Amino acid sequence: MRTDFSVHMKGGIITERDADFCTIRIRAPAGILSVEKMRGIAAIAKKYGSGIVHCTTRQTIEIPHVDPKLIKKIAKSLERNGTPIGSERDEIVNIIACPGTERCKFANIDTINLAKKIDQKLFGKEMPVKIRIAVSGCPNSCTSPMLNEIGIMGRIRPLRTAGLCTGCGTCVEYCKEKAIIIKNGISVLDPAKCVQCGVCIRSCPFELLKAEHSHYLILIGGRRGRHPRIGRELLTLENDDHVIYVIEKIVNWVYRRAWSGRLLSEQLDDLQFEKFRQEILHEISEKLK
Ligand code: SF4
Ligand code: SF4
Ligand code: SF4
Repeated sequence: MRTDFSVHMKGGIITERDADFCTIRIRAPAGILSVEKMRGIAAIAKKYGSGIVHCTTRQTIEIPHVDPKLIKKIAKSLERNGTPIGSERDEIVNIIACPGTERCKFANIDTINLAKKIDQKLFGKEMPVKIRIAVSGCPNSCTSPMLNEIGIMGRIRPLRTAGLCTGCGTCVEYCKEKAIIIKNGISVLDPAKCVQCGVCIRSCPFELLKAEHSHYLILIGGRRGRHPRIGRELLTLENDDHVIYVIEKIVNWVYRRAWSGRLLSEQLDDLQFEKFRQEILHEISEKLK
């Protein structure tokens, strides 16, 4: 009988330092798992691994120290548990998200649902380069979106209601960027210093600071590792549907044009990033008409 190696080729199977063993990485969009799924993973790790699991920096769980001969059995058990094998090679790997509006008082967007929607569309797609996607609900950037190949950050811009400010200074106290001063008895915002976190909007006791619609900043080409690099700003968008549309465009652009063997951050100029940015901006403005 022919041996089926397809399951061994999955990116979520990682050879260990001792090559007689491997680690299995699980798909866990936004790092969310029900307690039932956690119990299932625990049982599988106990039966086939060394009785431990490892929580990774990409919000997945790994089952270490598995006999490679058992991978097919484990893969089936993980499928049945609703926690299939994940990805780690030149693919779209686990999409990470901070708690967002579901739990965090600083959040401007629903990060977890967005990460799940992106996962449904794109997880595991083979790519010429590894693509990490991270979603953060505000500029505090708890998932470091600027250090991922594709980053999404929720922001909100404060707007003042002319003539109503009492000059109490509460918003000045709350702004960590020193972007607000009191001048002639009213608050004045310096847009150059403002990172659009939205904290001042929620701090005003008289609810005088209003907000633009919260929006999503999209960044491309960041990376961690031995030579970290901050991603470049592509554009801002106003809703989940537009974000998913643009993320798919980015993925297709990279899929068609990028070279393997080089990180995305190293080839953005060769891929004519600025031309792509102009094209996407034009397309989005047409779509919004
Ligand atoms: S990035 Fe912002 S919204 Fe997300 S967990 Fe951190 S502080 Fe909260
Ligand atoms: S949105 Fe954030 S950075 Fe901007 S003024 Fe308000 S508190 Fe300061
Ligand atoms: S907290 Fe509100 S009322 Fe007080 S200075 Fe700021 S905008 Fe004006």
